[in-house]
Amino acid sequence: MSDYRIETKCLHSGYTPGNGEPRQIPIYQSTTFKYDTSEEMGKLFDLESNGYFYTRLQNPTNDSVAAKIADLEGGVGAILTSSGQAATFYSLFNICEAGDHVVCSSTVYGGTFNLLGVTMKKLGIDATFVDPDAPIEELNKAFRPNTKAVFGETIANPALVVLDIEKFAKIAHDHEVPLIVDNTFATPVNCRPFEWGADIVTHSTTKYMDGHAAQVGGVIVDSGNFDWSKYGDKYHGLTRPDESYHGIVYTERFGKLAYITKATSQLMRDLGSIPSPMNCFLLNLGLESMPLRVERHCYNASKVAEYLNSHEKVAHVNYAGLPGDKYHELAKKYLPKGTCGVISFELKDGREAAVRFMDGLKLASIATHVADAKTCVLHPASHTHRQMNDEQLAEAGVSPGLIRLSVGIENVEDILADLEQALKLA
Ligand code: PLP
Repeated sequence: MSDYRIETKCLHSGYTPGNGEPRQIPIYQSTTFKYDTSEEMGKLFDLESNGYFYTRLQNPTNDSVAAKIADLEGGVGAILTSSGQAATFYSLFNICEAGDHVVCSSTVYGGTFNLLGVTMKKLGIDATFVDPDAPIEELNKAFRPNTKAVFGETIANPALVVLDIEKFAKIAHDHEVPLIVDNTFATPVNCRPFEWGADIVTHSTTKYMDGHAAQVGGVIVDSGNFDWSKYGDKYHGLTRPDESYHGIVYTERFGKLAYITKATSQLMRDLGSIPSPMNCFLLNLGLESMPLRVERHCYNASKVAEYLNSHEKVAHVNYAGLPGDKYHELAKKYLPKGTCGVISFELKDGREAAVRFMDGLKLASIATHVADAKTCVLHPASHTHRQMNDEQLAEAGVSPGLIRLSVGIENVEDILADLEQALKLA
């Protein structure tokens, strides 16, 4: 499908029905698949032949949707997970083990911050959080001999910092490690991080990809570009025999698909976190209309950002699509078609005013969500980021009065009218 444009790929990639076959991706709601001989089944267990045997490892519905997303990002392969959190964890755990270290942008989503700063730490994997805007010389200081990966978000949730992907790819590659980018907010419609040097892309598919708040899911996409063999000692999980698969060496057997095959055959086998085929079907419905929705989200959010920016009660607005925003130049480079539908802003009267404003909204709902079709709002310091202390909040770009507004695809005049009446109460 590589010649088609993204709108076409969103509809057609990953599944091509044969004559008389279902036009929509069939839902293979089956845990298992039957074989005529024991030998055939055995070969599947040894990764010697391709085929389905148990849905925790692979399922045809899931694989069609994964193949579509791989094509949208321009990758060689992808694996779907049961949540974005699982995708983030697997993307790192596939190449990190106890004693290793990760360099991560400090503005990442609160769940990612916690995963790296607390939970992965318990597994012996350390993280250093860096200011994504710091100069290269400063960022270089975060690396250690045991650093295995660099992690960042194209557009950070909720600080809306735009990552300088080329800069991050350079520091990662100078230190001989891959750059992993969470591309959830931008989506491949607005940015394809592989084109700027990223090696692995992750998503919470729960957000714009699904777009209707119908399923929780994640995906990891491999560009196939990182040369694991070149740093064989460092990435020994990929370049040395895997005893749990009779000594298979992923880089030798699977070449550019080594990383994603290991994630499937080892991590999914041992840790699970597979999405249900039904959820993959729902995700695919969302993907079909993603380009249209993303365009509308960006249009509506630009109007809302302009409105808020000129409102007397608003102290400041973060939206990289807004001329004058700190990240506008980076957005023009990496996100020329638009950024996303999420805006964050602060009211002059701070936290209490934020609460009054949110409680006064009628159309927009207070929801722990972003990036679906309906406008919603959240107070990060009290909700998604409430586990952080004040210092961590500041590093993440979250001030106590910050409001995160996920602009939906309703008529923008209705959204603006709702904001207007709620701001009167703030
Ligand atoms: N990455 C980003 C940028 C997110 O915003 C989120 C959730 O909000 C996640 C990852 C985690 O995804 P999920 O909620 O699907 O586990």
